[in-house]
Amino acid sequence: MMNDIPYKTYLTENELPTAWYNLRADMKVKPAPLLNPATRQRVTAEELEHVFCRELVKQELDDTTPFIPIPEEVQKFYRMFRPSPLIRAYFLEKALGTPARIYYKFEGNNTSGSHKLNSAVAQAYYAKAQGLKGVTTETGAGQWGTALSMACAFFGLDCQVYMVKCSYEQKPFRREVMRTYGADVTPSPSMKTKVGRAINEAHPGTTGSLGCAISEAVEAAVSQDGYRYVLGSVLAQVLLHQSIIGLEAHTAFDKLGVKPDTIIGCAGGGSNLGGLIAPFMGEKLRGEADYRIIAVEPASCPSFTRGRYAYDFCDTGKVCPLQKMYTLGHDFIPSANHAGGLRYHGMSATLSELYAQGLMEARAVEQTSVFRAAEQFARVEGILPAPESSHAIRVAIDEALRCKEEGKEETILFGLTGTGYFDMVAYEKFNDGEMSDYIPTDEELAASFAKLPAC
Ligand SMILES: *Cc1c(COP(=O)(O)O)cnc(C)c1O
Repeated sequence: MMNDIPYKTYLTENELPTAWYNLRADMKVKPAPLLNPATRQRVTAEELEHVFCRELVKQELDDTTPFIPIPEEVQKFYRMFRPSPLIRAYFLEKALGTPARIYYKFEGNNTSGSHKLNSAVAQAYYAKAQGLKGVTTETGAGQWGTALSMACAFFGLDCQVYMVKCSYEQKPFRREVMRTYGADVTPSPSMKTKVGRAINEAHPGTTGSLGCAISEAVEAAVSQDGYRYVLGSVLAQVLLHQSIIGLEAHTAFDKLGVKPDTIIGCAGGGSNLGGLIAPFMGEKLRGEADYRIIAVEPASCPSFTRGRYAYDFCDTGKVCPLQKMYTLGHDFIPSANHAGGLRYHGMSATLSELYAQGLMEARAVEQTSVFRAAEQFARVEGILPAPESSHAIRVAIDEALRCKEEGKEETILFGLTGTGYFDMVAYEKFNDGEMSDYIPTDEELAASFAKLPAC
């Protein structure tokens, strides 16, 4: 298996991207505009600036500028943990006996253990540049909260994190990492906000959801002077920052003289997938190249494969703008059995539009098969993957096995978004044979779709 293709391909500092790529600029049909939840009219920059940082609002609404320069300070921070390696999975290929060539872009080499730091540092930078005191946010599994805490510590900003209660209780060490970086962490729903108190009253004993935590974090931002709300996924600005993943991967493939046939990524709110595919999808949109792109989601939270493409609320409290996206309904909460992350009810508007146009595929996978793939990968490739990332591993393995059956030498790229050291409760369940799969029924989804707003 010694070969002229190295195990790892890094870029030199001179080859690092100096601008993010805004995929929307190359889309002929743009993602639908965000709507004001009260008036149902197209949301204005001014309205968004009450909630979000000014420069980030500009990025959110800009669907025409293809390249947006990465501020010098952000580029410097990126150099502490970037470039991330593009790794040839020689050992996994061998274990599978596949003629396929498998590559993965590994984003887990920083304390947040995920790609989330790519956007956190950008968002904290713009908040600081605006002269704000601090930012508020929500976190589910904890990677985003950790990434934002790190970025805020670096730029000297206050950081208030609303952490979904079940995760706060299941992952006390995540909370401690955030506190180590100086963040204030509150389990959500809390009694600190109006919306939190209302949710607690309506659902006593609830262990929370991302949608609730978002509503709390937004309320906390708009009710304190000098604070804004930041979000770690779903939004176009987050996909923009995450394009660093795809830009680096594209340059690394160019250096190798290789082109991927299939690109696979897990999809929660769509930020890592949107970032990984950005430059490749750009070529596809411009008619310069073709790639097969597969989004992988949990069967227990199947936004693309079973959701509706419709305007919906991004949060339970209905305070965020309405977005047209593949959604399971803003009240949808995945089954408590579901331990594998990617729990958000909706999906990036950009990816939703690309999917609606048939430019990418989606596949839903069950969590026991995801953890089987995680284990198989960990045992040969030496990285303990995050459950979220393992959705992509599952489909990469399935595709490699298909290549074996068909005797095809295809090149597969997948995004390995992070490590799973804080997910050992889920791994424990899997190892003890106590993990089950839950797939929502059509009736459950129909009940949730019935609450979609009319727009
Ligand atoms: C947050 C997260 C995801 C899912 O978020 P996206 O916005 O869909 O990328 C995937 N993997 C890891 C490790 C994460 O932390």
